[in-house]
Amino acid sequence: PNLDPTGEPEGKLIYASEEYAPGAAGTARTSATLLALVRNEELDDMLQSMRDLERTWNHKFNYPWTFFNDVPFTEEFKKKTQALTNAECRYELIPDEHWEVPSWINNDLFVESTKTLKEQKVQYAELVSYHQMCRWNSGLFYKHPALADVQYYWRVEPKVHFFCDIDYDVFRYMQDNNKTYGFTINLYDSPQSIPTLWPETLKFMADHPEHVHENNAMNWLTDRARRPDHNDKANGYSTCHFWSNFEIADMSFWRSKAYEDYFNHLDRSGGFFYERWGDAPVHSIALGLFEDKSRIHWFRDIGYQHIPFFNCPNSPKCKGCVTGRLTDGEAFLHREDCRPNWFKYVGMG
Ligand code: GDP
Ligand code: MN
Repeated sequence: PNLDPTGEPEGKLIYASEEYAPGAAGTARTSATLLALVRNEELDDMLQSMRDLERTWNHKFNYPWTFFNDVPFTEEFKKKTQALTNAECRYELIPDEHWEVPSWINNDLFVESTKTLKEQKVQYAELVSYHQMCRWNSGLFYKHPALADVQYYWRVEPKVHFFCDIDYDVFRYMQDNNKTYGFTINLYDSPQSIPTLWPETLKFMADHPEHVHENNAMNWLTDRARRPDHNDKANGYSTCHFWSNFEIADMSFWRSKAYEDYFNHLDRSGGFFYERWGDAPVHSIALGLFEDKSRIHWFRDIGYQHIPFFNCPNSPKCKGCVTGRLTDGEAFLHREDCRPNWFKYVGMG
């Protein structure tokens, strides 16, 4: 089925203001980077993502790439990634204190919880590094010293695809339109991975009502109508989230007092390890509560795939994906789309 929620005629989807074209007069360059947490073993998949993004966008703008790893990058990794771009590449090691399992996590309890999660078919539950990765992406990446002077980032994972030519500076677009966060795909999550995330969030809100924004997206976060089973198992959270393997965002939000307090609360509660909280629901809940929902932008014009889901606009600028198709996986996966809820409560932005 054609799930293109826009119904817009072909060619109208691309944001094409000449103001943001490459080399436009008066262009003040935004402090921004392409950002990838990646393992040395994923080099070929990273090269694939880079080729797509350089071809469709970055060769026109040459924003630097910043690669992060919990172990040093190999010479081969550095050589082959740098060879794909004219932009500067930076290779950064994550400090131990940002990656290690925190001291307050009880290892026996962690191992025990992992078994339960596995029985409930929570993906990657037994991989300690996956928990560490989710925690780092939730609350630590933007604290890396290499990003101290950087405001905006575009998160890129290995093995993703970009399909559409984008002719404007997306970072300047974010800045000039006062946007905090941009997404392409919005999905339901596995409630088994986050049973106490919403209850912890409610506790936090009770302690810190001052952080909740008056123009929040609470009704998107708590919708029950479409998938009541998810809301029940997640104890009041719809599980709808921005799929964070793609993010174009302003780190000022993560660096704010509201988010700092929220992340610390969650971190202390242990759910990154005793459950398998993802950075996607954590980021999404924070944005939905503490940010003005009008500052969240759907990049409808960026054709994107991370297996098994697509964002595929209806535009002649896109090649290699099928317009409007969410997935070429099994039919039941279509149920995972939460964009209709976002449009219902927040609009097309
Ligand atoms: P999925 O997208 O949820 O299936 O998870 P991925 O395996 O793609 O991991 C998410 C991101 O974190 C990817 O960019 C990975 O390269 C990266 N990642 C995951 N675990 C590690 C790790 O232990 N070390 C490093 N350096 N990167 C990791
Ligand atoms: Mn991935």
